[in-house]
Amino acid sequence: MSEEKSWREIPMGGLTWLNSIEYKTGEWRSFRPVVDHNKCTRCMQCVIFCPDIAIKYKPDVNMIEINLDHCKGCGVCAEECPVHAITMVKEKD
Ligand code: SF4
Ligand code: SF4
Repeated sequence: MSEEKSWREIPMGGLTWLNSIEYKTGEWRSFRPVVDHNKCTRCMQCVIFCPDIAIKYKPDVNMIEINLDHCKGCGVCAEECPVHAITMVKEKD
């Protein structure tokens, strides 16, 4: 079995060999979404639009939660949020 590699070591045009749960696309991120839970109306727009299914609603705490292992920082959630409750902030280098 081959040794695990990060996406940075994959040659251009190369394929990943992990499924989407094992492959942590969060490593790609240069910006991260930060949720203002006081502004959030729990409308679920971001949950629907996130291309990585990285946002889940947690009914026990009545809040959305972003899985940063899989969030790649595309900003779609921030763009789609009708009340601007999500801000994209630069990741630390
Ligand atoms: S930034 Fe993109 S990948 Fe991350 S939670 Fe928002 S929509 Fe999903
Ligand atoms: S789209 Fe905005 S208001 Fe709706 S659940 Fe997501 S963060 Fe909350």
